[in-house]
Amino acid sequence: MEVIIDSRAKLTLVQGDITGQTTEAIVNAANSSLMGGGGVDGAIHRAGGPVILEECKQIVSRQGKLPTGKAVVTAGGNLKAKYVIHTVGPIWYGGHRGEAELLASAYRESLELAAARGVKSVSFPSISTGAYGYPVERAAVVALQTVIDFLRQDSPLNEVVFVLYDTEAHRVYQKTLKRLVSEDTSAE
Ligand code: ADP
Repeated sequence: MEVIIDSRAKLTLVQGDITGQTTEAIVNAANSSLMGGGGVDGAIHRAGGPVILEECKQIVSRQGKLPTGKAVVTAGGNLKAKYVIHTVGPIWYGGHRGEAELLASAYRESLELAAARGVKSVSFPSISTGAYGYPVERAAVVALQTVIDFLRQDSPLNEVVFVLYDTEAHRVYQKTLKRLVSEDTSAE
């Protein structure tokens, strides 16, 4: 599913594995230690090779652990993407510990970092909806709205792809995007 946000920017939803994406940057749903892990984090480190972990270690030794909602960038190693943007989404505790704001921040900080590097295209996984337990329906609204708002600003970044790993997440993101876009046009 592809949605044109304005005359410059487009947002696409695909089902698949983010490590094969050809956007200039891909985003990793990392944890604060930046030491790699399971899920999408493990897949990115395996596909990208040891260069990524080396850079992550240097970043942590310089600035400490990465707080939730923040992002840093490394090279893409063996990936097709030139950069990996590592961000830490919130763990879901029921919704009253600022989870939505932290999740929006993870997306926004990743987009800002990409734009600051002059990156034009970025792929995201569904941050926090695996091991971190954020309900997919709720995460999809935050993820898509934050990206749509960002793409409406004037920025070199004009293409965002959500790469949903499983059919259920893909279905939920599609349904949510349709709803957000139609609410949007009916408000005009
Ligand atoms: P978190 O700790 O932020 O929840 P996870 O990696 O556990 O991160 O899960 C985040 C999402 O990434 C989940 O929806 C999971 O299905 C998905 N995922 C796992 N592997 C990949 C991959 N190779 N490409 C894209 N998405 C993936």
